[in-house]
Amino acid sequence: MCGIVGYTGPREAYPIIIKGLKRLEYRGYDSTGVALHNSDGLKIFKKKGKVAELEDAIIGKNLHATVGIGHTRWATHGEPSDRNAHPHRSAGGKLAMIHNGIIENYIQLKQELTNKGYIFTSETDTEVLLNFIEEIRKNNQCYLEEAVRVALKRVTGAYVILILDEDNPDTIIAARKGSPLVIGVAKGEHFLGSDASPMLEYTKEVVYVNDYELAIVKPDQLILKNLGNEKITPYVQKLDLELAAIEKGGYDHFMLKEIFEQPQTIYDCLRGRLDAEAGTITMSGIQQYTEQIVNANRIIMVACGTSWHAGLVAEYIFEELCRINVEVEYASEFRYRNPVINKGDVIIAISQSGETADTLVAIENAKQKGAIILGVVNVVGSSIARTSHGGAYTHAGPEIGVASTKAFTAQLAVLTMIALKIGYIKGTISEERYRHLLNELQQIPEKAAWTLKHSGKIKELAEKYKDARDFLYLGRGYNFPVALEGALKLKEISYLHAEGYPAAEMKHGPIALVEKTLPVVFVATRDAWHEKVISNMQEIKARKGKVVAVITEGDKTSEQLSDDVMIVPEADEIVAPMLSVVPLQLLAYYIGVAKGYDVDKPRNLAKSVTVE
Ligand code: GLU
Repeated sequence: MCGIVGYTGPREAYPIIIKGLKRLEYRGYDSTGVALHNSDGLKIFKKKGKVAELEDAIIGKNLHATVGIGHTRWATHGEPSDRNAHPHRSAGGKLAMIHNGIIENYIQLKQELTNKGYIFTSETDTEVLLNFIEEIRKNNQCYLEEAVRVALKRVTGAYVILILDEDNPDTIIAARKGSPLVIGVAKGEHFLGSDASPMLEYTKEVVYVNDYELAIVKPDQLILKNLGNEKITPYVQKLDLELAAIEKGGYDHFMLKEIFEQPQTIYDCLRGRLDAEAGTITMSGIQQYTEQIVNANRIIMVACGTSWHAGLVAEYIFEELCRINVEVEYASEFRYRNPVINKGDVIIAISQSGETADTLVAIENAKQKGAIILGVVNVVGSSIARTSHGGAYTHAGPEIGVASTKAFTAQLAVLTMIALKIGYIKGTISEERYRHLLNELQQIPEKAAWTLKHSGKIKELAEKYKDARDFLYLGRGYNFPVALEGALKLKEISYLHAEGYPAAEMKHGPIALVEKTLPVVFVATRDAWHEKVISNMQEIKARKGKVVAVITEGDKTSEQLSDDVMIVPEADEIVAPMLSVVPLQLLAYYIGVAKGYDVDKPRNLAKSVTVE
């Protein structure tokens, strides 16, 4: 998920690689490593922590080499540690490999290799793939390139890999599926990177490697092949980009980049777990606790901020699908309140960073009282992940924008999968509904992409409403927490006062605020509450408020009632929040930008709240 760099040519490789890794730091990471081929053979230097820390740690070593690879790791399998950092060395010692992405079927491959006597020195999926490649090369007596091809045909997941081979000192073998790979072409040398930033000052000629392609890269030769061993002519493009633009993937801000990443991140989160055709959900981190969850009298969601909103959506979903009583708690209240916790209660702690101080202490307390703790966390190896008995990572990749966006939708995806799994085992959901919801969930990445494609108008709405003083966000059912989240995003990014409310509850107070200058944002997608929401819209219109609504495509009634609309595709109400929140993220973003604020670093806010 993070960064890779490679170089082969006449220059010193190490400074190019280190500089390249620093350029990729914006992607977020937890460990650094390089492999160099020099007079001492194939040397690996790696360490948990920043690139600069690795540099300090290896001063005085023989770093002269004209070929090398470098990596920044964002842990997905195994906590951040020196041991788990890349590059990894194959058991036979000849190969060094770096990898970004996830090998989904690594458990199965690891078992096969363990049976053959392989011993692993890390907990990573990467080391498994590397030894699998080595085993094929040994077994088939073939070239490395051939072994890589054979191995990748067996692999499911996402990857970009770079491999150095002690027997072929100047060659880098690279391959990708799902994770990015750019090769910079220059006279007598080649550069490799997750994006073009590591090679910008050396060349503007680049080849974007496609999925299922394999590259054999030597100083003066670049061979590109598909997995069927057919040669492909590399398509060399001219780069016309500034460094800053590349770092944000061409987007103006990380927040916007992360909003637009959501089709991919939701897909990454579902991938390898959800199989709609087979009707299965595989979640190894909760497998061991399914019986306890099925029999739990109570589930308590503990979280803060945006994650708390994900917990609220999950409350509705778990109660509906699993018929288990759910409570959703602010971690900061829960931990100080001497709450009643019974043995066998299941606590689900939700946190992007996995370091949220209040949530961490809350689960430590609950654990002592005999509760089962499950973590729904984005950062692997984080404190909450380690304190939890089990759980599931959200696999949304590093989130850099302070206002959480892609982590929220990934949390919803994970929580929905857990609820579906438990409800199905418990028998509180019919086979037909279960199957239907699996399909609905599987379609979310595509529908999120559709939503983003139809988001052009939101920028205009931002201009139109940016000078309002207050906003009201309303929704019912699954969309009530989405209204809360929309209001929170606006507060965070635009510094405007916004209140989220259950649409019906508005009559018990906030309706007094309604006048012609007040925009009221309705989350009004078609669901079981829709008729009621329409009545609430009428009530706002009758008092001259401005109605801005997130509506389902083709919903003419809501459209006519609204001053402005933002459209999402039709989806089952259980999965709809993953879509209906997207226009609200964009609205907050564009209003923040229109007001001239630094949306990636909103004032007074911290990304990871590690203080109480
Ligand atoms: N899955 C690999 C690991 O956990 C690679 C993670 C990455 O993309 O940095 O080591």
